[in-house]
Amino acid sequence: MAVHIDLKAGDKVRIQGGGEAVVRKEIGRGGQGIVYLVTYEGKNYALKWYFPDKIKKPREFRANLQQNIQDGAPQNDSRFLWPKYLTVEGQYPTFGYLMGVAPAEYVDMDKLYMTYSWKKPAVKGQPAIKVEYKFESLDAQVTAAINIVKAFRSLHLVGKSYQDLNGGGFFINTKNGHVLVCDCDNVAPDGENFGIGGFPGFMAPEIVRGVAKPDVLTDRYSLAVVLFRLFMRADPLEGKKVLQSVVLTEAQELKHYGKEPLFIFDPKDDRNRPVKGVHDNAIKLWNLYPKFIRDAFIKSFTEGIREPNKRIIEKRWQELLIRLRSNIIHCTCGKVTYSTCFDHEEHYVCRCRSCGAKIYNMKIKDMIAPIYPGLKLYRCYTENEDDFETVTGEIIENRNNKGLFGIKNLSKKVWKAKFPDNSERDVPPGGGVPIWIGLQIDFGDGIKAKILS
Ligand SMILES: [Zn+2]
Repeated sequence: MAVHIDLKAGDKVRIQGGGEAVVRKEIGRGGQGIVYLVTYEGKNYALKWYFPDKIKKPREFRANLQQNIQDGAPQNDSRFLWPKYLTVEGQYPTFGYLMGVAPAEYVDMDKLYMTYSWKKPAVKGQPAIKVEYKFESLDAQVTAAINIVKAFRSLHLVGKSYQDLNGGGFFINTKNGHVLVCDCDNVAPDGENFGIGGFPGFMAPEIVRGVAKPDVLTDRYSLAVVLFRLFMRADPLEGKKVLQSVVLTEAQELKHYGKEPLFIFDPKDDRNRPVKGVHDNAIKLWNLYPKFIRDAFIKSFTEGIREPNKRIIEKRWQELLIRLRSNIIHCTCGKVTYSTCFDHEEHYVCRCRSCGAKIYNMKIKDMIAPIYPGLKLYRCYTENEDDFETVTGEIIENRNNKGLFGIKNLSKKVWKAKFPDNSERDVPPGGGVPIWIGLQIDFGDGIKAKILS
């Protein structure tokens, strides 16, 4: 019989290292345990409280949690809701740990995937309230993806793996794409595993087949699934082939997600294509993304599905996603899309399908960025740095001469503008230069941009 572990409001749980956490209310329930909102030393925390029979090696599991608490979040990355305190042993038949609470405006990724959830009515008996969730902008969506990748990069760089990636593990700010990774209790040094297998649909096929345990390489597979679901709002392996099995039994799941996984957009095998009327998101969204993003998913779910070493590493995803973010066009008419949705008129000039405006492009590093007022250049564009958050430049429109654009230097370095007639001019921090076709900007360190024709 399962041990009764439920806590109620007002219950006190002793914390290792001193003090007591007071239970406020239950805020969630999952396969491994219950999550309560608690107060400890005047602050709110989430207490994850384990079902003792669901933890396979409790002693090792607890010791690993203790180690993670001691180590702190990888690289001090603020994207983690990292375990902070353990509860004492012996007070209750189980134990748990405290972590920070995601602010109210953060939404878990599963809800964004579903686009809505049902909220209990304030008054009993009244109908449930439908709450809709979506990103406020394409920029926020891509920024969220970059933040997820960056968090896993930090984790893998300190030699740990997450082991249980799934949509419920991320809280996302839909306004700006900030991400908080929670459920970090299965994080372990790469190569070690304390019993967790992963989450159906997110697990690497070799785990589903039972021939591998979660590690950095299987995390990479799950990360590709998370990104695919975030962008396509679809399951990468659920198409025609899977739909033919009316009920997904364990045997069917082993077949479609373990032994014979087939990507819905495998260019060499169309047996599992998305089905109209069932997988409309996949059909509608896939072609909106530039080829380099589609190629990355194809690689992840063809070669990468069979050979763990061929999976796309976090650094590469980060580069691809930064490039994707630079591909978003904000036309002055208000239309916002990826540049793939604009008619490419001449070589590098797009025309907005809504208002007909011409949009020019700028090449920086391996990126093509459409130029529009408000386009931000980040440090990773203009310097040899990883930083995708610090703005180092912006495209602005001339106040007195609409339609005339300039680039403003918001970095700390002096740039050089080289005009088509070969004359040069320094662009100091805070300064700007009008842009037109053929203009080149030298950001230093061998990084150059050119306005394309
Ligand atoms: Zn337009």
